Amino acid sequence: MAELVQHYLDRIRAEQIELRDGALASYIPELSTVDPESFGLSLSTSDGYVYESGDTAVEFTIQSISKPFTYALALELIGQDAVDAKIGVEPSGEAFNEISVDNVTKTPKNAMINAGAIAAVSLVPGAGADDRFDRILEFYSACAGRRLHVDMDVYGSEKATGNRNRAIAYMLASFGVLDDDPDEVLDVYFRQCSVRVTSTDLARMATTLARGGCNPMTGRRVSGAKVVRRTLSVMVTCGMYDATGDWVSAVGMPAKSGVGGGIVAVLPGQLGIGVYSPRLDARGNSVRGVEVCRNLSSQLGLHFLSVTRESSSTLRAVFEVSPGVRVYEVHGDLLFAGAEQVLRTAERDRDSYDVAVLDVTRVDDINDAARAMLTGMRANLAAAGKEAYLVDPDGRVVPADRRHEYDAIVFCTLEEAVEAARQWGAS
Ligand code: GLU
Repeated sequence: MAELVQHYLDRIRAEQIELRDGALASYIPELSTVDPESFGLSLSTSDGYVYESGDTAVEFTIQSISKPFTYALALELIGQDAVDAKIGVEPSGEAFNEISVDNVTKTPKNAMINAGAIAAVSLVPGAGADDRFDRILEFYSACAGRRLHVDMDVYGSEKATGNRNRAIAYMLASFGVLDDDPDEVLDVYFRQCSVRVTSTDLARMATTLARGGCNPMTGRRVSGAKVVRRTLSVMVTCGMYDATGDWVSAVGMPAKSGVGGGIVAVLPGQLGIGVYSPRLDARGNSVRGVEVCRNLSSQLGLHFLSVTRESSSTLRAVFEVSPGVRVYEVHGDLLFAGAEQVLRTAERDRDSYDVAVLDVTRVDDINDAARAMLTGMRANLAAAGKEAYLVDPDGRVVPADRRHEYDAIVFCTLEEAVEAARQWGAS
Protein backbone atom coordinates (compact mmCIF):
# COMPACT_ATOMS: atom_id res chain seq x y z
CA MET A 1 0.00 0.00 0.00
CA ALA A 2 2.77 2.40 1.01
CA GLU A 3 4.51 1.75 -2.31
CA LEU A 4 1.39 2.49 -4.25
CA VAL A 5 0.94 5.86 -2.53
CA GLN A 6 4.62 6.67 -3.07
CA HIS A 7 4.17 5.86 -6.73
CA TYR A 8 1.16 8.21 -6.98
CA LEU A 9 3.09 11.04 -5.41
CA ASP A 10 6.15 10.52 -7.61
CA ARG A 11 3.97 10.47 -10.69
CA ILE A 12 1.97 13.56 -9.76
CA ARG A 13 5.17 15.47 -9.07
CA ALA A 14 6.84 14.20 -12.27
CA GLU A 15 3.85 15.40 -14.29
CA GLN A 16 4.66 19.01 -13.30
CA ILE A 17 8.42 18.98 -13.41
CA GLU A 18 8.58 20.50 -16.88
CA LEU A 19 6.30 23.34 -15.80
CA ARG A 20 8.53 26.40 -15.63
CA ASP A 21 5.95 29.17 -15.73
CA GLY A 22 5.98 31.95 -13.19
CA ALA A 23 8.78 33.84 -11.51
CA LEU A 24 10.60 33.95 -8.21
CA ALA A 25 9.39 36.60 -5.78
CA SER A 26 11.76 39.50 -5.97
CA TYR A 27 10.20 42.23 -3.85
CA ILE A 28 12.13 40.75 -0.95
CA PRO A 29 15.54 40.68 -2.73
CA GLU A 30 16.89 37.62 -0.94
CA LEU A 31 13.95 35.48 -2.17
CA SER A 32 15.17 35.77 -5.74
CA THR A 33 18.40 33.93 -4.91
CA VAL A 34 16.84 30.48 -4.38
CA ASP A 35 17.13 27.62 -6.89
CA PRO A 36 14.05 27.94 -9.11
CA GLU A 37 14.13 24.24 -9.97
CA SER A 38 13.68 22.93 -6.43
CA PHE A 39 10.51 20.91 -6.17
CA GLY A 40 9.43 18.93 -3.13
CA LEU A 41 6.17 17.21 -2.27
CA SER A 42 5.37 15.68 1.11
CA LEU A 43 2.23 14.09 2.43
CA SER A 44 1.76 13.14 6.06
CA THR A 45 -1.04 10.78 7.06
CA SER A 46 -3.02 11.38 10.21
CA ASP A 47 -0.92 8.83 12.10
CA GLY A 48 2.26 10.68 11.18
CA TYR A 49 3.58 8.52 8.34
CA VAL A 50 5.25 10.79 5.77
CA TYR A 51 5.59 10.17 2.03
CA GLU A 52 8.22 12.32 0.33
CA SER A 53 8.93 13.00 -3.31
CA GLY A 54 11.70 15.18 -4.75
CA ASP A 55 13.48 17.97 -2.89
CA THR A 56 11.74 17.51 0.43
CA ALA A 57 14.84 18.35 2.47
CA VAL A 58 15.37 21.76 0.87
CA GLU A 59 14.68 24.57 3.32
CA PHE A 60 12.89 27.72 2.22
CA THR A 61 11.21 30.52 4.13
CA ILE A 62 7.70 29.96 5.36
CA GLN A 63 6.52 33.53 4.54
CA SER A 64 2.74 33.83 4.61
CA ILE A 65 2.23 30.19 5.57
CA SER A 66 3.17 31.46 9.02
CA LYS A 67 -0.06 33.43 9.17
CA PRO A 68 -2.55 30.70 10.08
CA PHE A 69 -0.18 29.37 12.72
CA THR A 70 0.32 32.70 14.46
CA TYR A 71 -3.42 33.27 14.25
CA ALA A 72 -4.01 29.88 15.89
CA LEU A 73 -1.50 30.73 18.60
CA ALA A 74 -3.20 34.05 19.33
CA LEU A 75 -6.58 32.30 19.52
CA GLU A 76 -5.11 29.71 21.81
CA LEU A 77 -3.45 32.20 24.14
CA ILE A 78 -5.97 35.02 24.45
CA GLY A 79 -9.23 33.44 23.26
CA GLN A 80 -11.49 33.96 20.29
CA ASP A 81 -13.39 37.01 21.58
CA ALA A 82 -10.23 39.01 22.15
CA VAL A 83 -8.87 38.04 18.73
CA ASP A 84 -12.17 38.78 16.99
CA ALA A 85 -12.19 42.24 18.48
CA LYS A 86 -9.09 43.02 16.40
CA ILE A 87 -9.23 40.78 13.30
CA GLY A 88 -12.21 39.86 11.10
CA VAL A 89 -12.95 36.62 9.28
CA GLU A 90 -14.15 37.90 5.91
CA PRO A 91 -12.32 37.36 2.62
CA SER A 92 -10.91 40.65 1.45
CA GLY A 93 -10.74 39.99 -2.29
CA GLU A 94 -7.67 42.24 -2.23
CA ALA A 95 -3.99 41.58 -2.66
CA PHE A 96 -2.24 40.21 0.42
CA ASN A 97 -0.32 43.41 1.05
CA GLU A 98 -3.20 45.82 0.55
CA ILE A 99 -3.03 48.78 2.92
CA SER A 100 -6.61 48.42 4.06
CA VAL A 101 -9.00 47.70 6.93
CA ASP A 102 -12.70 46.92 7.01
CA ASN A 103 -14.67 50.11 6.30
CA VAL A 104 -16.97 49.69 9.25
CA THR A 105 -14.94 47.99 11.99
CA LYS A 106 -11.60 49.57 11.05
CA THR A 107 -9.94 46.22 11.76
CA PRO A 108 -8.11 43.97 9.26
CA LYS A 109 -10.52 41.84 7.26
CA ASN A 110 -8.84 38.54 8.06
CA ALA A 111 -5.64 37.05 9.43
CA MET A 112 -4.36 35.71 6.10
CA ILE A 113 -3.57 39.12 4.63
CA ASN A 114 -0.64 41.11 5.93
CA ALA A 115 -2.72 43.60 7.92
CA GLY A 116 -4.44 40.76 9.84
CA ALA A 117 -1.22 38.83 10.23
CA ILE A 118 0.61 41.81 11.70
CA ALA A 119 -2.30 42.34 14.08
CA ALA A 120 -2.18 38.63 15.04
CA VAL A 121 1.51 38.97 15.94
CA SER A 122 0.64 41.84 18.29
CA LEU A 123 -1.95 39.65 20.02
CA VAL A 124 0.56 36.99 21.05
CA PRO A 125 1.47 37.96 24.58
CA GLY A 126 5.15 38.57 25.28
CA ALA A 127 7.48 40.87 27.14
CA GLY A 128 9.10 42.45 24.11
CA ALA A 129 9.91 41.25 20.61
CA ASP A 130 12.25 38.38 21.57
CA ASP A 131 9.84 36.87 24.04
CA ARG A 132 6.95 37.13 21.62
CA PHE A 133 8.94 35.61 18.80
CA ASP A 134 10.17 32.76 21.01
CA ARG A 135 6.58 31.79 21.66
CA ILE A 136 5.75 31.90 17.99
CA LEU A 137 8.78 29.86 16.97
CA GLU A 138 8.15 27.36 19.72
CA PHE A 139 4.57 26.94 18.46
CA TYR A 140 5.61 26.41 14.83
CA SER A 141 8.27 23.96 15.99
CA ALA A 142 5.75 22.02 18.08
CA CYS A 143 3.47 21.78 15.03
CA ALA A 144 6.34 20.59 12.84
CA GLY A 145 7.78 18.27 15.46
CA ARG A 146 11.32 19.67 15.21
CA ARG A 147 13.12 22.84 16.19
CA LEU A 148 12.85 25.40 13.39
CA HIS A 149 15.20 28.34 12.74
CA VAL A 150 15.18 31.77 11.17
CA ASP A 151 16.90 32.56 7.89
CA MET A 152 18.77 35.67 8.97
CA ASP A 153 19.50 36.77 5.39
CA VAL A 154 15.86 36.75 4.36
CA TYR A 155 14.91 38.44 7.62
CA GLY A 156 17.46 41.18 7.02
CA SER A 157 16.37 41.56 3.43
CA GLU A 158 12.70 41.93 4.28
CA LYS A 159 13.41 44.24 7.18
CA ALA A 160 15.46 46.48 4.92
CA THR A 161 12.80 46.65 2.23
CA GLY A 162 9.51 46.20 4.09
CA ASN A 163 8.12 49.71 3.80
CA ARG A 164 4.75 48.53 2.65
CA ASN A 165 4.36 46.41 5.79
CA ARG A 166 5.51 49.43 7.81
CA ALA A 167 2.74 51.46 6.23
CA ILE A 168 0.25 48.74 7.19
CA ALA A 169 1.50 48.53 10.78
CA TYR A 170 1.37 52.29 11.29
CA MET A 171 -2.09 52.42 9.78
CA LEU A 172 -3.20 49.71 12.24
CA ALA A 173 -1.67 51.64 15.11
CA SER A 174 -3.58 54.75 14.03
CA PHE A 175 -6.85 52.78 14.15
CA GLY A 176 -6.03 51.41 17.59
CA VAL A 177 -5.64 47.84 16.33
CA LEU A 178 -2.00 47.66 17.45
CA ASP A 179 -1.43 48.48 21.08
CA ASP A 180 2.32 48.00 20.91
CA ASP A 181 5.14 49.75 19.11
CA PRO A 182 4.56 49.06 15.39
CA ASP A 183 8.26 48.60 14.69
CA GLU A 184 8.59 46.00 17.40
CA VAL A 185 5.57 44.08 16.10
CA LEU A 186 6.93 44.29 12.56
CA ASP A 187 10.27 42.95 13.66
CA VAL A 188 8.54 39.83 14.98
CA TYR A 189 6.46 39.58 11.81
CA PHE A 190 9.57 39.75 9.60
CA ARG A 191 11.21 37.08 11.70
CA GLN A 192 8.20 34.78 11.57
CA CYS A 193 8.06 35.07 7.77
CA SER A 194 11.74 34.11 7.63
CA VAL A 195 11.42 30.82 9.50
CA ARG A 196 12.97 28.03 7.42
CA VAL A 197 10.91 24.94 6.70
CA THR A 198 10.94 22.00 4.29
CA SER A 199 7.93 20.62 2.46
CA THR A 200 7.94 17.80 5.00
CA ASP A 201 7.77 20.31 7.87
CA LEU A 202 4.75 21.85 6.18
CA ALA A 203 3.10 18.45 5.74
CA ARG A 204 3.64 17.74 9.41
CA MET A 205 2.33 21.15 10.46
CA ALA A 206 -0.70 20.54 8.25
CA THR A 207 -1.31 17.16 9.82
CA THR A 208 -1.18 18.69 13.27
CA LEU A 209 -4.10 20.86 12.14
CA ALA A 210 -5.76 17.89 10.41
CA ARG A 211 -5.63 16.10 13.75
CA GLY A 212 -7.38 18.94 15.55
CA GLY A 213 -4.19 20.32 17.12
CA CYS A 214 -2.34 17.13 18.06
CA ASN A 215 1.02 16.43 16.43
CA PRO A 216 0.84 12.77 15.38
CA MET A 217 4.59 12.35 15.39
CA THR A 218 5.29 13.62 18.90
CA GLY A 219 1.85 12.96 20.34
CA ARG A 220 1.89 16.49 21.72
CA ARG A 221 -1.31 18.53 21.77
CA VAL A 222 -0.31 21.99 20.65
CA SER A 223 -3.70 23.58 20.32
CA GLY A 224 -7.38 22.98 21.04
CA ALA A 225 -9.78 21.60 18.44
CA LYS A 226 -11.93 24.75 18.41
CA VAL A 227 -8.95 26.93 17.63
CA VAL A 228 -8.05 24.61 14.78
CA ARG A 229 -11.58 24.70 13.42
CA ARG A 230 -11.54 28.48 13.35
CA THR A 231 -8.10 28.57 11.77
CA LEU A 232 -9.06 26.11 9.06
CA SER A 233 -12.25 28.07 8.37
CA VAL A 234 -10.25 31.19 7.68
CA MET A 235 -7.81 29.21 5.54
CA VAL A 236 -10.71 27.91 3.45
CA THR A 237 -12.09 31.35 2.74
CA CYS A 238 -8.92 33.45 2.63
CA GLY A 239 -5.89 31.17 2.38
CA MET A 240 -4.83 31.39 -1.25
CA TYR A 241 -4.50 35.14 -1.78
CA ASP A 242 -7.12 36.36 -4.21
CA ALA A 243 -7.35 32.95 -5.91
CA THR A 244 -9.17 31.34 -3.02
CA GLY A 245 -12.43 30.70 -4.91
CA ASP A 246 -10.59 28.86 -7.68
CA TRP A 247 -8.66 26.88 -5.16
CA VAL A 248 -11.66 25.79 -3.12
CA SER A 249 -13.52 24.66 -6.23
CA ALA A 250 -10.61 22.82 -7.78
CA VAL A 251 -8.66 21.53 -4.81
CA GLY A 252 -11.03 21.76 -1.88
CA MET A 253 -8.70 21.79 1.12
CA PRO A 254 -8.04 24.53 3.66
CA ALA A 255 -4.65 25.83 2.61
CA LYS A 256 -2.14 28.66 2.77
CA SER A 257 0.56 29.65 0.37
CA GLY A 258 3.57 31.89 0.79
CA VAL A 259 5.74 33.93 -1.55
CA GLY A 260 8.67 31.70 -0.59
CA GLY A 261 7.06 29.07 -2.85
CA GLY A 262 5.45 26.83 -0.26
CA ILE A 263 1.88 25.65 0.05
CA VAL A 264 0.38 23.91 3.05
CA ALA A 265 -2.92 22.06 2.63
CA VAL A 266 -5.00 20.27 5.23
CA LEU A 267 -7.57 17.55 4.78
CA PRO A 268 -9.27 17.58 8.19
CA GLY A 269 -9.18 14.26 9.97
CA GLN A 270 -7.13 12.68 7.21
CA LEU A 271 -3.83 14.18 6.10
CA GLY A 272 -1.56 17.14 5.54
CA ILE A 273 0.32 18.19 2.41
CA GLY A 274 3.39 20.37 1.96
CA VAL A 275 4.67 21.45 -1.46
CA TYR A 276 7.63 23.60 -2.42
CA SER A 277 8.43 25.10 -5.79
CA PRO A 278 9.41 28.76 -5.79
CA ARG A 279 8.18 30.07 -9.14
CA LEU A 280 4.99 32.03 -8.47
CA ASP A 281 1.99 32.98 -10.56
CA ALA A 282 0.68 36.54 -10.72
CA ARG A 283 -1.27 36.09 -7.50
CA GLY A 284 1.73 34.87 -5.55
CA ASN A 285 0.96 31.14 -5.48
CA SER A 286 3.53 28.50 -6.44
CA VAL A 287 2.72 27.51 -10.03
CA ARG A 288 3.75 23.88 -9.72
CA GLY A 289 2.44 23.76 -6.16
CA VAL A 290 -1.07 24.67 -7.26
CA GLU A 291 -1.00 22.13 -10.09
CA VAL A 292 0.29 19.36 -7.84
CA CYS A 293 -2.44 20.05 -5.30
CA ARG A 294 -5.10 20.08 -8.00
CA ASN A 295 -3.94 16.72 -9.26
CA LEU A 296 -3.56 15.20 -5.84
CA SER A 297 -7.06 16.29 -5.02
CA SER A 298 -8.63 14.98 -8.20
CA GLN A 299 -6.60 11.79 -8.53
CA LEU A 300 -6.81 10.80 -4.88
CA GLY A 301 -10.30 12.20 -4.30
CA LEU A 302 -9.27 14.63 -1.57
CA HIS A 303 -11.76 17.46 -2.06
CA PHE A 304 -13.23 18.12 1.38
CA LEU A 305 -16.71 18.55 -0.02
CA SER A 306 -16.72 15.21 -1.85
CA VAL A 307 -19.64 13.18 -0.69
CA THR A 308 -17.88 9.91 -0.20
CA ARG A 309 -20.42 7.78 1.56
CA GLU A 310 -23.94 7.37 0.45
CA SER A 311 -26.24 8.37 3.23
CA SER A 312 -27.89 4.96 3.05
CA SER A 313 -24.67 3.31 4.15
CA THR A 314 -25.26 4.02 7.85
CA LEU A 315 -27.78 1.21 8.03
CA ARG A 316 -26.00 -1.95 7.10
CA ALA A 317 -28.98 -4.27 7.47
CA VAL A 318 -32.49 -4.37 8.89
CA PHE A 319 -34.08 -7.72 9.67
CA GLU A 320 -36.69 -9.40 11.80
CA VAL A 321 -35.21 -12.02 14.15
CA SER A 322 -38.49 -13.13 15.60
CA PRO A 323 -42.03 -11.82 15.51
CA GLY A 324 -42.11 -8.31 16.95
CA VAL A 325 -38.31 -7.97 17.21
CA ARG A 326 -36.54 -6.00 14.50
CA VAL A 327 -32.77 -5.52 14.37
CA TYR A 328 -31.14 -2.41 12.89
CA GLU A 329 -27.46 -2.95 12.19
CA VAL A 330 -25.68 0.38 12.17
CA HIS A 331 -22.09 0.86 11.00
CA GLY A 332 -19.42 3.39 10.07
CA ASP A 333 -18.97 6.86 11.49
CA LEU A 334 -22.11 8.26 12.97
CA LEU A 335 -22.76 11.98 13.02
CA PHE A 336 -26.01 13.90 13.02
CA ALA A 337 -27.13 12.92 9.54
CA GLY A 338 -26.47 9.20 9.99
CA ALA A 339 -28.23 9.07 13.35
CA GLU A 340 -31.16 10.96 11.92
CA GLN A 341 -31.47 8.38 9.19
CA VAL A 342 -31.46 5.49 11.68
CA LEU A 343 -34.07 7.18 13.83
CA ARG A 344 -36.31 8.04 10.93
CA THR A 345 -36.19 4.51 9.54
CA ALA A 346 -36.91 2.93 12.91
CA GLU A 347 -39.69 5.40 13.54
CA ARG A 348 -41.26 4.78 10.15
CA ASP A 349 -41.31 1.01 10.79
CA ARG A 350 -42.58 1.16 14.33
CA ASP A 351 -45.95 -0.44 13.63
CA SER A 352 -44.17 -3.57 12.54
CA TYR A 353 -42.29 -4.39 15.77
CA ASP A 354 -42.56 -4.28 19.52
CA VAL A 355 -38.86 -3.96 20.21
CA ALA A 356 -36.26 -2.33 18.01
CA VAL A 357 -32.75 -3.63 18.63
CA LEU A 358 -30.08 -1.20 17.51
CA ASP A 359 -26.88 -3.14 16.94
CA VAL A 360 -24.06 -0.57 17.03
CA THR A 361 -21.24 -3.10 17.31
CA ARG A 362 -19.81 -1.90 14.00
CA VAL A 363 -20.01 1.81 14.64
CA ASP A 364 -16.51 3.28 14.41
CA ASP A 365 -16.92 6.77 15.67
CA ILE A 366 -19.83 8.80 16.97
CA ASN A 367 -20.32 12.34 18.18
CA ASP A 368 -22.44 13.52 21.09
CA ALA A 369 -25.29 14.67 18.88
CA ALA A 370 -25.65 11.22 17.32
CA ARG A 371 -25.21 9.59 20.72
CA ALA A 372 -28.05 11.62 22.18
CA MET A 373 -30.26 10.77 19.21
CA LEU A 374 -29.70 7.02 19.34
CA THR A 375 -30.16 6.83 23.07
CA GLY A 376 -33.20 9.11 22.86
CA MET A 377 -34.93 6.60 20.65
CA ARG A 378 -36.13 4.61 23.64
CA ALA A 379 -38.08 7.49 25.15
CA ASN A 380 -39.48 8.27 21.73
CA LEU A 381 -40.78 4.76 21.19
CA ALA A 382 -42.15 4.47 24.73
CA ALA A 383 -44.89 6.91 23.79
CA ALA A 384 -46.05 4.41 21.16
CA GLY A 385 -45.82 1.51 23.60
CA LYS A 386 -42.61 0.17 22.05
CA GLU A 387 -39.17 -0.56 23.41
CA ALA A 388 -35.62 -0.05 22.10
CA TYR A 389 -32.42 -1.87 23.08
CA LEU A 390 -28.84 -1.20 22.18
CA VAL A 391 -26.17 -3.79 21.45
CA ASP A 392 -23.00 -1.88 22.26
CA PRO A 393 -20.23 -4.21 23.46
CA ASP A 394 -17.44 -1.63 23.20
CA GLY A 395 -19.32 1.28 24.71
CA ARG A 396 -19.09 3.30 21.49
CA VAL A 397 -22.52 4.83 21.86
CA VAL A 398 -22.87 4.64 25.63
CA PRO A 399 -19.42 4.60 27.24
CA ALA A 400 -19.36 2.51 30.41
CA ASP A 401 -18.61 5.53 32.60
CA ARG A 402 -21.44 7.57 31.12
CA ARG A 403 -24.29 5.06 31.41
CA HIS A 404 -26.03 7.18 34.04
CA GLU A 405 -26.36 10.03 31.51
CA TYR A 406 -28.52 8.05 29.15
CA ASP A 407 -31.84 6.30 29.45
CA ALA A 408 -30.66 3.31 27.47
CA ILE A 409 -30.76 -0.45 27.93
CA VAL A 410 -27.47 -1.83 26.71
CA PHE A 411 -26.46 -5.41 25.90
CA CYS A 412 -23.13 -6.92 24.98
CA THR A 413 -24.37 -9.38 22.38
CA LEU A 414 -27.17 -9.48 19.87
CA GLU A 415 -28.33 -12.84 21.28
CA GLU A 416 -28.81 -11.38 24.76
CA ALA A 417 -30.70 -8.42 23.37
CA VAL A 418 -32.95 -10.58 21.21
CA GLU A 419 -33.70 -12.91 24.10
CA ALA A 420 -34.65 -9.96 26.31
CA ALA A 421 -36.75 -8.51 23.49
CA ARG A 422 -38.67 -11.76 23.10
CA GLN A 423 -39.45 -11.79 26.81
CA TRP A 424 -40.50 -8.16 26.70
CA GLY A 425 -42.91 -9.01 23.87
CA ALA A 426 -44.27 -11.99 25.77
CA SER A 427 -44.82 -10.08 29.01
N1 GLU B 1 6.92 38.40 4.34
C1 GLU B 1 6.06 38.58 3.23
C2 GLU B 1 5.36 39.94 3.27
O1 GLU B 1 4.82 40.30 4.25
C3 GLU B 1 5.07 37.48 3.21
C4 GLU B 1 4.21 37.60 2.06
C5 GLU B 1 3.61 36.34 1.61
O2 GLU B 1 4.16 35.24 1.69
O3 GLU B 1 2.49 36.49 1.12
O4 GLU B 1 5.38 40.67 2.34
